[in-house]
Amino acid sequence: MKKIGIIGGGQLGKMMILDAKRLDYQFVILDPTVQCPAHSIADAHIVAGFDDIEAIKRLAERVDVVTYEFEHISLQALQELEAAGHKVYPSSETLGYIQNKYQQKCHLKKNKLSVPAFLPVETVSDIKQAGEQLSYPLILKTCTGGYDGKGNAVIDSEEDIPRAYEALGKGSLPLMVEEFVPFVKEVSVLACRSVNGQTVVFPVAENVHKDSILDETTVPAAISPETTREAMEVSEQCLHAFEACGMLCVELFVTKEGHVLVNELAPRPHNSGHYTIEGCVTSQYENHIRGILGLPLGSTKLIRPSAMKNIIGDHDAKAVLLGLEEAYQEPDVKIHIYGKEEVRKGRKMGHITATADTIEEALRQVRSAHAALRYE
Ligand code: ADP
Repeated sequence: MKKIGIIGGGQLGKMMILDAKRLDYQFVILDPTVQCPAHSIADAHIVAGFDDIEAIKRLAERVDVVTYEFEHISLQALQELEAAGHKVYPSSETLGYIQNKYQQKCHLKKNKLSVPAFLPVETVSDIKQAGEQLSYPLILKTCTGGYDGKGNAVIDSEEDIPRAYEALGKGSLPLMVEEFVPFVKEVSVLACRSVNGQTVVFPVAENVHKDSILDETTVPAAISPETTREAMEVSEQCLHAFEACGMLCVELFVTKEGHVLVNELAPRPHNSGHYTIEGCVTSQYENHIRGILGLPLGSTKLIRPSAMKNIIGDHDAKAVLLGLEEAYQEPDVKIHIYGKEEVRKGRKMGHITATADTIEEALRQVRSAHAALRYE
């Protein structure tokens, strides 16, 4: 029987476990929150912080392979595990390329993958210079620790620089600026590489964000066949350039000319791939587990057009969900609730997926179910 360790016990870890339990694998999670989403279904839970190297070593000693469900973890811990002979996938090398957004973009560029123009900056005067070079609007980003748009600030003009600089910690974290891409769509591609070298690419997903948080995903993306091909090829190239193992999410901007620019990568299953659970022959979670174990990867074929809508908290309270009965009036919806104890404004609490004969119908059903659900 295989034992798998996951650093992180959030919803992504939970969905990995749900899928892999069919194969009777055992899971040990490491997460500082006792009642984290994966807690209720993990076989064991080490309650410890993500930078607690000793605890991460204890995790590795109990399992055959260690993986992780988010990228803000100690690189040093992963390196130490590898040096001690533990299997860690994706490798510390892959995470090292990705963890810092500036280094990630440099690595993409070095591998001839198209990215928005970008520059590293430290001071207000560096940003002014970057503004002269790249012109406004600009987007200022912290290179580490950002998620759901936290860590980004748009700069509309030179006068706007001090506000953005302050909002992102006045240089206390490494910073970079990027040209603001007037994209026509945001899409993402989930791709997977097994330790045995096999690769698969999922269909292109179209994403709409609300307040910088993913709101809805529809698949297949409404883009031309040429753009679809380009997006899938770029994603396959990313798998190789970053020596990925398991899932890699490639977030892309589609330009008005129909080309794609890489926005960012995540070396793990991703929110925009939740649809694969019901929408594809094999989910991103199952392929992640198969990939890190060196098993053949499953078909990524889309079974039916799919839509996914996130359930995001709009207030702070104890999490008591209402309206399930009404939401299930839509016959094709599947509702996923992560089990977080507290609802908070902007927090991902669950999601709804529907597959249907058309994207419009799938979207109608997830929206209707979403409107029926609320937290007390
Ligand atoms: P996070 O790591 O927080 O997800 P991202 O860098 O992916 O941050 O940015 C979040 C969102 O901000 C993107 O989905 C996109 O809508 C917008 N964004 C990021 N970079 C750019 C850019 N260079 N041009 C235009 N919009 C951008």
